[in-house]
Amino acid sequence: MPKRILLVGAGLSGAVIGRALAEAGNAVTVIDERAHIAGNCHTERDAESGIMVHVYGPHIFHTDDDRVWDYVNRFETFMPYVNRVKTTSAGRVYSLPVNLHTINQFFGKCFRPDEARQFIESLSDTSIAEPGTFEEQALRFVGKDLYEAFFKGYTIKQWGCDPNDLPASILKRLPVRFNYDDNYFFHRHQGMPANGYTGMIGKILAHEGIEVHLNRRFSRSDAAEFDHVFYSGPLDGYFDCELGRLGYRTLDFEMFRHDGDYQGCAVMNYGDAEVPYTRITEHKHFSPWEKHEKSVCYKEYSRACGPDDIPYYPIRMAEEKALLGQYVERARRERQVTFVGRLGTYRYLDMDVTIREALDAAEAYVRNGGEIPPFIVDPT
Ligand SMILES: Cc1cc2nc3c(=O)[nH]c(=O)nc-3n(C[C@H](O)[C@H](O)[C@H](O)COP(=O)(O)OP(=O)(O)OC[C@H]3O[C@@H](n4cnc5c(N)ncnc54)[C@H](O)[C@@H]3O)c2cc1C
Repeated sequence: MPKRILLVGAGLSGAVIGRALAEAGNAVTVIDERAHIAGNCHTERDAESGIMVHVYGPHIFHTDDDRVWDYVNRFETFMPYVNRVKTTSAGRVYSLPVNLHTINQFFGKCFRPDEARQFIESLSDTSIAEPGTFEEQALRFVGKDLYEAFFKGYTIKQWGCDPNDLPASILKRLPVRFNYDDNYFFHRHQGMPANGYTGMIGKILAHEGIEVHLNRRFSRSDAAEFDHVFYSGPLDGYFDCELGRLGYRTLDFEMFRHDGDYQGCAVMNYGDAEVPYTRITEHKHFSPWEKHEKSVCYKEYSRACGPDDIPYYPIRMAEEKALLGQYVERARRERQVTFVGRLGTYRYLDMDVTIREALDAAEAYVRNGGEIPPFIVDPT
């Protein structure tokens, strides 16, 4: 029997689950409180310059998951793109992630790989046997100078706290390379959708079994009309934040225009704590196959997320994890609802992981005849 299914959120989670369930013969309704589809991956062409702008911050698609790569290529042409990031520190520009070029530039050397490795080892603070904090982890592996130039200021701005208050796990493996590879990602597949993410997600949602309603906020009473709800909104928001708010960092984007090429690359980080923004992104460089005379850039500022801000990065420190545990316990008592996606499970998820989890959730629903638990992946 076809089921009536409500997807809350027209981002990647909602679109991918909706598509799979519509293809399985179900009647799918997708709602989103925003005026557009695609959630935080939303892209749109700037009316003045025609540049494809990543409205909620730049998104680069990268994955090792062949199934996910095939999935996105089914709906959109992916153009080759390699993410190469630069950083400005104390008035000089360096290559990231820290690689042989960065080390040689920073220390004014021309080390070969083995020499650089030995040199960095000689700088590392070997008195720290078991790094307990982010700062200790960095000092243990790269030493004070590289830590202060490339990690400390950026991290203070990004997370709004002392790096000694952050767990070492954030920097499990320091991304230091002893070669000249400056490709930010290790994944086998990397690219950009030729017509933007909103174009791709529009095609995922274009199925006769799917109805999309924008500017429509979910209320729990909506569930009565459906056999099942997949909810990709904020987990605490589902319960009207009755137990308190899960902590997030939010971002402010200060847009500015420029004639020509502003910075010559897509992403320029700013490592100095005195510079208030974390990075400047120049959006035309995310579509290097297009030609644009003008330019649109975003200065990106990170701060604590208030009740009316867009939640971007879950904080997930001890306090937030305790509150998360309480919401998860409550959510597990819900019937006919499954919490999915980055907000529904309070985790940072790259797009490829989001798609994989969405495909898995839809498959579990179909396989079990509509009987699935509130979580497919344990958020705790
Ligand atoms: C700054 C930033 C940069 C990123 N860059 C990358 C990158 O380079 N590469 C990468 O792979 N991933 C990146 N990501 C991750 C990517 O954004 C996520 O994987 C993706 O957005 C998750 O999709 P989602 O559908 O789960 O959530 P979302 O995209 O957030 O979609 C959820 C939707 O639900 C809607 N909604 C919420 N509550 C309600 C409600 N009550 N009623 C109705 N609708 C509601 C929202 O409006 C939203 O549209 C980045 C994330 C951030 C924050």
